[in-house]
Amino acid sequence: MQTVTNPAEYEGLYRQWAGRKIALVPTMGALHEGHLALIRMARRFADKVVVSIFVNPLQFGPQEDLSDYPRPKEADLASCRDAGVDAVFYPSVEVMYPNGTDCATQVIPPESLTDRYCGAFRPGHFVGVATVVLKLLALIRPHIAIFGEKDAQQLAVIRAMVKDLQVQVEIMAHPLVREMDGLALSSRNRYLQTEAERKAALCLYQMLSQVQRLVQEAPQPLLTSEILAQVSNQVLSEQDPSVPIRLQYFEAVEDSTFRPATSLNPGVRLLIAAYVGDVRLIDNWLIQ
Ligand code: AMP
Repeated sequence: MQTVTNPAEYEGLYRQWAGRKIALVPTMGALHEGHLALIRMARRFADKVVVSIFVNPLQFGPQEDLSDYPRPKEADLASCRDAGVDAVFYPSVEVMYPNGTDCATQVIPPESLTDRYCGAFRPGHFVGVATVVLKLLALIRPHIAIFGEKDAQQLAVIRAMVKDLQVQVEIMAHPLVREMDGLALSSRNRYLQTEAERKAALCLYQMLSQVQRLVQEAPQPLLTSEILAQVSNQVLSEQDPSVPIRLQYFEAVEDSTFRPATSLNPGVRLLIAAYVGDVRLIDNWLIQ
């Protein structure tokens, strides 16, 4: 496995790989089984797999966890090596933003995709995401790029960017990967320090699966606003009061358009974000 830190180093590899199908898996590191599932998918669909590891300052707000974000470099490189990755692109902030983040050209995704959910709670986040992903696609020039459904709004933003800017890459999505008990895998799960916090983090999954159950049992389509409020109140009322939980949003969108869904039918995606203690977690669920 090669570790490259700048575009010039990658250029050598790219030339050697002429004629091979290249897949890119963009990550911020602190790799877990969710990332590894994306890497395995990349290996199935391409000859050469590049994983980028870059904690992108442009997508963090001023009050967010940029400086605390975990960066276990050696463990990440070992995971990539074990997973059969061909190259890790591990650039510094200076390599990605030579003129600083303030002076960089930025990609603005359509407001219709970013005015709600994570976009509303994290102003500027999706500009940062779209900008860094476009830069990575331009640098690595993969045939396919793989993203997780864990970040459903991010996936919608990236699909729209690639379509609107006519970027020649195929975007593929991997289903969300969970722990055995339902917790969505996330690099931020390592911030859940106590047993009580870890248990409380399950409330996101509990709300999602509870709605799925109600939809399956209901004789006719359920109204989104009523049901989501009822389920979130019930699940939150059952939690251990020693761990504060702050729900940011619990909403439903049409999966194909990402616009609000008024009733809960199959093909609607539930989206949820909550602070569990100090840890912000997101999850989502495609209703069946
Ligand atoms: P991150 O390192 O958090 O930026 O994630 C890198 C990629 O891995 C993104 O496309 C995420 O959607 C994906 N990912 C992270 N966690 C999961 C998960 N639990 N299941 C599926 N994909 C995931």
